[in-house]
Amino acid sequence: MDKLSSSLKTTLQKIAKSMFVDEKLVNELVKEIQRALLQADVNVQLVFELTQRMKERALKEELHKGLSKREQLINIVYEELVGFLGKERHELEIGKHKPSKVMLVGLFGSGKTTTAAKLARFYAKRGYRIALVGLDVHRPAAMDQLEQLGKQANIPVLLNRGEKNPVNIWQGFKDEVKKYDAVFIDTAGRDALSQDLIAELEALNREIKPDENLLVISADLGQAAKKQAEQFHASCHISGVVTTKMDGTAKAGGALSACAVTQAPIKFIGVGEKIDELEVFNPPGFVSRMLGMGDLEALLEKTKGVITEEQAQDLGKRLLKGDFNLIDLYEQMSAMRKMGPLSKIVEMIPGFGQLKMPEEMLHVQEEKLEKWRHIMDSCTKEELEDPEIITGSRAERIAKGSGASVAEVRELVKQYGQSKKLMKMMKGKPEKMMKRMKFPKFA
Ligand code: GDP
Ligand code: MG
Repeated sequence: MDKLSSSLKTTLQKIAKSMFVDEKLVNELVKEIQRALLQADVNVQLVFELTQRMKERALKEELHKGLSKREQLINIVYEELVGFLGKERHELEIGKHKPSKVMLVGLFGSGKTTTAAKLARFYAKRGYRIALVGLDVHRPAAMDQLEQLGKQANIPVLLNRGEKNPVNIWQGFKDEVKKYDAVFIDTAGRDALSQDLIAELEALNREIKPDENLLVISADLGQAAKKQAEQFHASCHISGVVTTKMDGTAKAGGALSACAVTQAPIKFIGVGEKIDELEVFNPPGFVSRMLGMGDLEALLEKTKGVITEEQAQDLGKRLLKGDFNLIDLYEQMSAMRKMGPLSKIVEMIPGFGQLKMPEEMLHVQEEKLEKWRHIMDSCTKEELEDPEIITGSRAERIAKGSGASVAEVRELVKQYGQSKKLMKMMKGKPEKMMKRMKFPKFA
């Protein structure tokens, strides 16, 4: 997972540093994301579909107001990865019945017993009265293991070492479990999903009627997790998945994406052997962390808020966008103005931190922007896309239409020309040029 994370981070930094978002950059980006995902053992077909969607969106989607193209591109990558992993977090159904019954199923060694104890502890900490129930009658040491874990977590463990039929064990505790808000039920595994195991789990399902039937699956299975998840889902009515051992494998991407495409969502992930090494699986948070952009969501919320407040002028909609035209210039500056101190915003986007924005760009005067907007409203589409043609009679016409002076119209055109020249200069070597960059005075 770390490896996937670092290559995705590098890719995003590349976007953050490049001045222009064009097809070439998008293609490059898509290739690198593909490489990172394939290295993390994600299924080739899935990778292809995912990156295809990213590419399509990146090239076709209209620029979201208040976002730069770069931000939008980063956001697309983020959203698609989140969607890929299941979108939202899913809590367990706990507290509806007394007790809520959570059964853990899976093959040998997948982490059922450990996860049962982790979950018990997780919910006990939230104030629920919890017990563990041991129904693994196949492994001689299984009961001892659960007992030990229960002791560690300070959770009562219900065991019956003399009984060899798990259904009978459950029946024996039927009244006992009513004392608790939730019980976590450990079951036996097998080497594979055999008829024998299916029959056992069916019998338990009938008898227990669990509120949650969690499949515990090890992340080191990689793509093979898919088959297992599907089989269990088909024969045992899985309500969710816990992916364990996320800490020790480069194949986690494969396991996560494999589980995500089955009907049952991933609800928790195990990230270590210790009792508290369990996390609620929250795709947005997970992806943000993986990409190293903890606060990106906050930024996006912020920009969205700004856009609804302002009654959208819809400038973007009325106009086709070149790589860089008058509208881009205007939108960039007005977005900056409205989002508050630019330095704060820049801090929130990793990779952008190194981008030193000149002081003048941080202080665009509202009146000036207002004037420019009027001027632009009086421009034709051609003039907006190619402001260089605004000379003589065009400038006069625009001035008249917008209530600005001809000098002010010329000033805007000049401003555009200077910015454009600068952007061109930087296109080749963004990093080097960035240091020498001197933006024209906007205010
Ligand atoms: P069961 O056979 O399905 O009950 O699996 P166990 O709960 O006995 O776990 C099998 C082994 O995997 C044990 O050594 C656990 O300590 C280990 N294990 C379980 N979950 C995790 C995890 O999230 N990370 C790591 N590193 N080890 C885990
Ligand atoms: Mg076990």
